Amino acid sequence: MAELKVTQSKDLTRVERVGAHSHIRGLGLDDTFEARNVSQGMVGQKAARRAAGIILQLIREGKIAGRAVLLAGQPGTGKTAIAMGMAKALGEETPFAMMAGSEIFSLEMSKTEALTQAFRKAIGVRIKEETELIEGEVVEVQIDRPAVAGAASKTGKLTLKTTEMETVYDLGAKMIESLGKEKVQSGDVIAIDKASGKITKLGRSFARSRDYDAMGPQTKFVQCPDGELQKRKEVVHVVTLHEIDVINSRKQGFLALFAGDTGEIRCEVREQIDSKVAEWREEGKADIVPGVLFIDEVHMLDIECFSFLNRALENEMAPILVVATNRGITRIRGTNYKSPHGIPIDLLDRLLIISTTPYSEEEIRKILDIRCEEEDVEMSEDARDLLTKIGHETSLRYAICLITAAALACAKRKGKEVEIEDISRVYSLFIDVKRSTQFLMEYQEQFMFNEVQEDDDAKA
Ligand code: ATP
Repeated sequence: MAELKVTQSKDLTRVERVGAHSHIRGLGLDDTFEARNVSQGMVGQKAARRAAGIILQLIREGKIAGRAVLLAGQPGTGKTAIAMGMAKALGEETPFAMMAGSEIFSLEMSKTEALTQAFRKAIGVRIKEETELIEGEVVEVQIDRPAVAGAASKTGKLTLKTTEMETVYDLGAKMIESLGKEKVQSGDVIAIDKASGKITKLGRSFARSRDYDAMGPQTKFVQCPDGELQKRKEVVHVVTLHEIDVINSRKQGFLALFAGDTGEIRCEVREQIDSKVAEWREEGKADIVPGVLFIDEVHMLDIECFSFLNRALENEMAPILVVATNRGITRIRGTNYKSPHGIPIDLLDRLLIISTTPYSEEEIRKILDIRCEEEDVEMSEDARDLLTKIGHETSLRYAICLITAAALACAKRKGKEVEIEDISRVYSLFIDVKRSTQFLMEYQEQFMFNEVQEDDDAKA
């Protein structure tokens, strides 16, 4: 790995389908982090959204890294939605990686490798690319008027030394004007075309700009190598450590990112990358952008993974870890011990816990309205009322699922908008968990491996 390869893959725009959370566009908070009732696709769950917003602010200000947050609450109370809202609110630059706990049980790589990759997907490296300082020879330039302050002599001879040459970024074309017979004063920024010796004075506004301040108080000179005055820009892009890992460890380079064929990455490769990145940071060429790693269904991880997480959070480059679970007190995978949320106490102890609570009927109605719009489904008021009632009595998820199904039923009868009859039809076609359980209770003897009976026997 003579030279570290860094490629931007941000050009890849994901094709967004109407997914479960595609209506979520942020956390819906105002400037004081108060949650608006309905905003950015988010409804209710105000305390949790507000807490998530405060975490976001700390992330943005770079105040926290290596912390972990647990979103805990009943199924369908918006834990994943809040995590998605955080991702959207963070914007493009901050990496957000998402995985489900069950994904680590893959045959292709070890559990710790899967977690390491997930962590490195959530750590960004902001790389500043500058055009290099142009090295010039000592040049002498004749200026027709003698009023040159600073380095110029009475005869109007201005001597530039290589040491005085500086790099100038972001020169707007408007700043560039021909020097002509103008005076050059102390504080002016001038450019000398190496080939033609032509002097260009950059506008006064440049001398007042931030870029100028950064250059120090003395008269500044820029030398351009050939012909045209160069327009310079500081290019900044953010890539994740995982992207750098893959590009440098697979023959097909960044194409491996498209194929998803990342496989296991050797630890020597990672070590080299880490030390290169550390070098860049020291030279001021790069910064670390700690992102967010979201692990849904965290109770699916086992004890080995939990101790890995504990350790990984100690790393100075660690991202913010957000985990979610809908479990109560349950067994920690890989052990015979029970713990709240199925998470070991030592990890639990370092988590900031945000809890989500069930929705009111009114909130369910609003979420269903948003989903109808998202799925482009016209629905009558009565049908919406019925669907809300169903959502309240069964679950929000079940009611959301019925929207598309009811729209299909409506299309089949060539209706214009979904009516009560369509909702009733799909309600009878697709049963919810409660009815399914009731059905099982009634007909359990006819099913295989009937465990309810055994449990009951055991209790008795
Ligand atoms: P589980 O524990 O089963 O994983 P969850 O708490 O992660 O559930 P979500 O998947 O976030 O629940 O919510 C279920 C559906 O309801 C999703 O489509 C989600 O986008 C939507 N939803 C949940 N809460 C809200 C909310 N406050 N505002 C808008 N949509 C929401």
